[in-house]
Amino acid sequence: MRIILLGAPGSGKGTQSQRLIEHCHIPQISTGDLLRAAVAKGSELGRAAKVAMDAGQLVSDDIVLGMIRERLTDPDAARGFILDGFPRNLAQAHALYELLGRLGQPLDSVVVLEVEPRELVRRIAGRRTCRRCGRVFNVLTSPPAPGETCPVTAGPHDLFQRPDDVESTVAERLKVYETQTRPLVDFYEERGILRRISADGDVAAVTGRLKIVLHDLLRTAPQQSGA
Ligand code: AMP
Repeated sequence: MRIILLGAPGSGKGTQSQRLIEHCHIPQISTGDLLRAAVAKGSELGRAAKVAMDAGQLVSDDIVLGMIRERLTDPDAARGFILDGFPRNLAQAHALYELLGRLGQPLDSVVVLEVEPRELVRRIAGRRTCRRCGRVFNVLTSPPAPGETCPVTAGPHDLFQRPDDVESTVAERLKVYETQTRPLVDFYEERGILRRISADGDVAAVTGRLKIVLHDLLRTAPQQSGA
């Protein structure tokens, strides 16, 4: 199964991808995570990406497409994948179409997670990531369970707020989504593979809706999904 989760910052793409990979046994490929790893490494690419990320802007297509080409040809992606945060504009969508065509692996579906704008801001404000294991929580809606420990340290999760989740940057990221990423909804609708779900409500309820939408794909492509 090869799918894209599309949606504004805070719509739950990362959280839902993490829950789906357990169900589908295919990797989550998040360009945001790949970029944050490059920034943490302090590579030249990471330094160039950081400037755009801190400003709430998109990182250049050259950088992102280079990373995604490499990642999609890793052996684990041959079984399928969930793309989270990619593509982010029409140029990336066209480049992905060509790349997957060359690999003989067309997309099965694109699911848009729809959330009220006010709810997006609230979710981003509460988002925290564990520095050690990378799990994402929301201190307002889905904090670590009482007594829950980090699988890496066996101690409490070491939570931090992403620098681009601060209020001033979030407004810019939401604007970038509206102008550059939302046109992808029409792009994929015209290709007949778009599905929409409401991503309001609690995390488990949204996962349930997603599974219903993906059910036919999972049933008809068991060898790809492993499910
Ligand atoms: P995310 O974790 O998906 O919210 O991404 C965090 C930031 O990484 C974004 O605000 C962008 O600056 C950058 N980024 C992630 N994915 C892409 C992409 N596909 N194209 C350009 N920039 C991206």
